[in-house]
Formats: sequence, C-alpha cells, structure tokens
Amino acid sequence: MAASSLFVGLALLLALSSTGEEAKSERQSQPLALNLTKSEASFDTETAPLLRVGAEQPEPQAVESAVSEPAEPPPEMNRTTYTVKSGDSLSVLFKRAGLTDRDLYELIDQAPEARALRRIMPGNEITFALSQDGQLEELIYQRDRLRSLRFTRTEGSFDAEELERTPDVQIAYRRATIDSSLFLAGQAAGMTDNLTMELAGIFGWDIDFILDIRRGDTFSVLFEEHFLDGEKIGNGPILAAQFTNRGKTFEAVRYVDASGDSNYYTPEGRSMRRAFLRTPVEFTRISSPFNPNRRHPVLNTIRAHKGTDYAAPRGTPVQASGDGRVKFAGRKGGYGNTIIVQHGQTYQTLYAHLNGFRRGVRSGTRVKQGQTIGYVGSTGLATGPHLHYEFYVNGAVRNPVTVELPQAESVPSSEMARFESQVQPIIAELEKYQRDTQLAGLSNDLQVN
Ligand SMILES: [Zn+2]
Repeated sequence: MAASSLFVGLALLLALSSTGEEAKSERQSQPLALNLTKSEASFDTETAPLLRVGAEQPEPQAVESAVSEPAEPPPEMNRTTYTVKSGDSLSVLFKRAGLTDRDLYELIDQAPEARALRRIMPGNEITFALSQDGQLEELIYQRDRLRSLRFTRTEGSFDAEELERTPDVQIAYRRATIDSSLFLAGQAAGMTDNLTMELAGIFGWDIDFILDIRRGDTFSVLFEEHFLDGEKIGNGPILAAQFTNRGKTFEAVRYVDASGDSNYYTPEGRSMRRAFLRTPVEFTRISSPFNPNRRHPVLNTIRAHKGTDYAAPRGTPVQASGDGRVKFAGRKGGYGNTIIVQHGQTYQTLYAHLNGFRRGVRSGTRVKQGQTIGYVGSTGLATGPHLHYEFYVNGAVRNPVTVELPQAESVPSSEMARFESQVQPIIAELEKYQRDTQLAGLSNDLQVN
C-alpha cells in the first residue's frame, strides 16, 4: 500500500514537472503582451489537487502565500524558518529544529525527492512545521527566489511537490550615447554589465566592439525586468535594440519561433547571427596568420599555412564555429588531435593540435554553434599551445579571418505571419520610447521605466 502510493506520488510528480516545463515554454512562445504584468503562478492549479489526494491541504492560493511569506500557519503547528549557514548540514538543521537524524532518515526514505536537500547552500531557507507533539508535519525547502520544494506528511509517508512562482514582468527602456566606452555608457544609463554584454552579443556579428566603437555611437534597448513581491530580482531578455555605430544603424528584435527557440532578427526577419563564429576560441593573439607561402616553424620548409593559429592557454575550450556534424575526430599526422566538422554541403571547418576532445565528440556527433568540442593543446607539429583553425568552402581552403560568413537562417516564410504578429508590437514600443525621448529633447544617458 505504501509502495503503491509512493509510486503514484512519483508518477504525479513527474507529470507535474513536465507540465511545468510545457507551461514555461508556452509562456515563452506566446506573443508578448507589452505593459502586461504577469503574476500567475506557473504551478498548474488544475494539476495541483491531484497531489493532494488523501491529504487536507490549503487551496493553491494559500500554497503560494505559504511559500512567499509563511504568514498564517494552522494554529496547531509550530513553524520556523532557518537560513542555511556555511558549515551547516541537514543533520545540524534538523537538530536546530528540534528533530533527530531519525526524522531526517524517515523523510529521505519516504520521499526520494528529499535527496535534493543534500544540495542545500548557505543562504537557502528551510521551513519546518512541527505538530504540538514535535512531529515533523511539513518541510519547505526554498531553492531560490522562485522555486521551492515542499514535503507534507500524509498517512505513513511524505508527499513532495515542486512549487514555482512566476515573476512580474515589466518592460524597461534605456538609451545611451557612448563617450569613452560601451560599458561606461551602459552603466551611466542604469544597465548592468551583463545586460550590456548581452547587447554586444546581439550586434557582435556586425560591429567589432573592440575596434569599431566611436565616441558618439548610440544605442537603445528594450528589455524585461523581473519583480517578485515588488522587489526587482533580475533582468529578463532583451526584446529589441538599436545600435548606431559610425552613422550606421542596426536594429534587432527577439523572436521565439514555433519550436520555442529564441533568436534575434532584423525587423525583416533576417538573422542577426552568422552561420559561423569568426573565431572558435578565446585567444590571446593570432600567432600565425593564414599564409599560402609560409616557412614552417618546425619543418623549416616553405609550406602553405592553410589556417589561422590562435595562441591560447592549454585547455582553453574550442567551440564548433557552426552547426554541423563531426566528420573526423582523432589523430592526424602533424595536425595532432584534430576535429573536422561538416556544415551542410558547402562548408567544412578543421581544429588541430587539440589537447583532447570533449567527452562524446566523435565521428558522426551533431554539434551546435558555440558548443565546446575540444581543448587547446600542442599535439602534432606545434611549438606551443594554440588552435590551428581551417575553413573550407566547397573544398577550397579560405582565410578564416576574412572569409565572408553566411548569415544564419532567416525566419522561414511559413512562419513570417507569426513573426510579424509577435515582433511588430515590440518594435512599435521601442520606436515609441525613442520618439518620446527625442520629443523631450533628451539625448543622453536617459532612463525610462
Ligand atoms: Zn597553424
């Protein structure tokens, strides 16, 4: 009986967590309603009662408030919240709550989900609710601001449920003019460095943020701010942005496609990304450029240098520069440990002198752009750790630094109507903010919420 109820509990929990994920991706794929404050919990109130079979528990709303602020406990329970301190163990916390290792063992034994408690971190909050005679009735583990795990004693067992809150979303606008640096301009406009970095990532395919930035460049950005109980807990994604660099204006808007993937596009639906990263590694310098007539440093003979060498510390991750399939991963003469990736029919990239391969990367493996496939080393004929990178177009080797990189896929024509209806309101909102700030005669370091 106990075993079967545990099984049912588990099955329900699994069903619930998958429902939660669906709800999440659905939220993402919904066209964004601007200025709308979303406050509904993603915890599905229709599924929730299933978990409470055989147990008398409060309504979903009450569950929510119990999580956020354990304000009104049932009178017969003693409820205390402890903040995990450095050095605390579960055992210590149970003792602090007036419980024993035996109670802890009982919980973990009866609710396998309680194993998550082993990952408690300093700063986490754990709430214990004890009956008058000191028996553990309920335990709530607040994983982070949004997610908690709640265990409730039922007849002869503990039920577990995952609770997730959805933050209130507000749209924010920032605009800045660059005086000395992108980051300083962002800070002056009240942007976090992460947000500025995200902005640079969106336009990084068109603008070299190290070399191209000039005083007088401007940018504006529309993004989500997330609040919980009136307190800001973080930023959501950038929804739209504009960047004017040396008189040329680029515009990008976020689109969540029909399969739930989000990417940035021009308002016309062209991808902001290229199909390939310009450099597949974070390097310190180009130690040897592409050169068809180079004297080889180890062999000391004239031998074409068919790629670009990027000096980087041994072990630095090497990324697949584009989506594709691994054609070769292994030792290859003077190239040492080498990976060759085939990208569609036209393109091939090669990564040589690797210290090693990422686990699971072998011939036939599918890889995504930016995914780590190996690590910088000096295997084969190499004088020091570096990545040797080659780029082929229709079988002909090209200079990876200067080769024209194809654009990543545009929004498919079958999805254009969906794209339009999702991004038009966002673009209109960005333009409205821009007009308003221009009308107000403000051009510098402006903050509007
Ligand atoms: Zn080389």
